[in-house]
Amino acid sequence: MTSTKLVKDSPIIIVGAGVFGLSSALHLSQNGYKDITVFDKQPYADNAYSTTDGADAASADFNKVMRMSYGDEIEYQRLAFEGIKTWNAWNDGIRSSKTEDLPRGLKPTDLIWNNCGFLRMSIDGKLSDIERATLAGMTREGLRQTQFVLGDAEDEKRARSHFRRGEWEKKSDPFGRKKQGKELVGVFDSTAGFVEASKACIWAMHLCRRNGVRFVLGEKEGQVSTFVKNGTGRTIGVRTISGAEYHSELLILAAGGWTPYLFPSVSPLLETTAGSVVYFQLPPKDQAQDLWDKFSPENFPVFAYGGWSKGHGIGGFPRTEDGIIKIGYRGTKYTNYEDVQDPITGVKHRISVPKTKYWPQPHDPAITKQAVDAVKEVVREAMPELAAIGITGCRNCWYTDSLDNSFLVDFVPNDDGMLICSGGSGHGFKFLPILGREVVKIIERPGEKNAYGKLWRWRIKEGGPRNGLEQGEAGPRNWKKQVMATKDDWKFRENPSLYMESYG
Ligand SMILES: Cc1cc2nc3c(=O)[nH]c(=O)nc-3n(C[C@H](O)[C@H](O)[C@H](O)COP(=O)(O)OP(=O)(O)OC[C@H]3O[C@@H](n4cnc5c(N)ncnc54)[C@H](O)[C@@H]3O)c2cc1C
Repeated sequence: MTSTKLVKDSPIIIVGAGVFGLSSALHLSQNGYKDITVFDKQPYADNAYSTTDGADAASADFNKVMRMSYGDEIEYQRLAFEGIKTWNAWNDGIRSSKTEDLPRGLKPTDLIWNNCGFLRMSIDGKLSDIERATLAGMTREGLRQTQFVLGDAEDEKRARSHFRRGEWEKKSDPFGRKKQGKELVGVFDSTAGFVEASKACIWAMHLCRRNGVRFVLGEKEGQVSTFVKNGTGRTIGVRTISGAEYHSELLILAAGGWTPYLFPSVSPLLETTAGSVVYFQLPPKDQAQDLWDKFSPENFPVFAYGGWSKGHGIGGFPRTEDGIIKIGYRGTKYTNYEDVQDPITGVKHRISVPKTKYWPQPHDPAITKQAVDAVKEVVREAMPELAAIGITGCRNCWYTDSLDNSFLVDFVPNDDGMLICSGGSGHGFKFLPILGREVVKIIERPGEKNAYGKLWRWRIKEGGPRNGLEQGEAGPRNWKKQVMATKDDWKFRENPSLYMESYG
């Protein structure tokens, strides 16, 4: 199916102002499309994507990993490297702006992309197959010199000339394993780091607005309740909670974890799941200067402790400028199955939907005990200073997993009025500056799919493992089968004096 009627003046509606919606809007506007309206149920102009102020999208966050390492998925590696150019330009753009010209939530000293490096530590004494595939991919692309295999004599030698004095020791062994006589196996990726997620979204929205993109935001005006169809079933617009109707020649559905909720027919391809996140708020700087220094991006890398999905499934970040250390658990991604009525057909489906701190009703968020225990185990072993502080906050971060971890950017079969743009599968953020470039190609030339068009096509896989989607509600990841952690579980009880010692 091709969107044959689309011209530069055609009305385009995008549902969702997260990474997938913003990047699509930005690139469409850069490609001359003049009538683009983005709807979001969140009042982002007021809350500036702040998670403490009601924002609950996957894209609203302190930080996300900027990794280049993609095993043998070379297309993603290439896209990540291409995106870096724009991330650098965005840093420059913010730095050279006057405070009064920046949108709410951004200041000229903000560095939305921080190249602090990414340490991927192995916990079973050997490099995983995926690490080896990444090294091979980097070698093929002429980038092997940017990767440092710990303990490899040649790489260690190169590291000493590449990094500032003392930096390599801190970044390659942030948990002091060598001193403790412990094994240290892994790879340090010097091209990687983190992006400041909410701030990056604010900047992308600002760039979209500068290009003439309109934003309709907020619970009533911005929240899409259903899609409008013509007599042949083609999508021709949206209706919002306020009752207003808007016409589109093309509708892009980029509603993240809410995509299957709004469009249940996509649920064989996409499933909404939750990753778990905990926070440690450092004591005020004047009381804990040593910790603020130790965990600063200058001295501490983004880390994966044994890989994201294997072992503990734990990864973390340097502290934020407010002294918050975020650690994520992805060993298990949880599902939340509910009855959902298709807004068009009225048919009931049983599918996984988000359950955030604010949606569908505000509630006190709890993450699973499994996630808290996994984080505590790593903290006890690797960062005992944080045990003295204890966990100070948590969040379930809801996103869409696809059946093979690749994104979904394609027209709905038999409806060239609607394109689904979702399936971030836990790794979409880093592509904010570049994803939309491929979205535009898919829209303009749907018949000639390039590498990304093929990867991100509408696809159904019958039988066999499908990235956990095959488990459905009966599977072990179902939210309702989990034990949730209480605030008491957040504490590290045993021998706190030990931790106080190392913290002081
Ligand atoms: C715990 C966690 C860790 C992650 N870590 C990384 C990482 O380290 N690196 C990385 O690159 N990526 C990471 N990701 C993935 C990345 O965050 C996502 O791929 C990306 O943010 C998804 O963007 P999105 O636009 O699809 O969805 P979202 O950001 O969820 O945006 C969807 C938007 O749609 C809006 N919406 C929903 N329903 C409606 C409606 N009815 N009407 C109007 N608007 C609506 C929502 O309010 C929201 O703003 C992580 C994700 C999670 C959850």
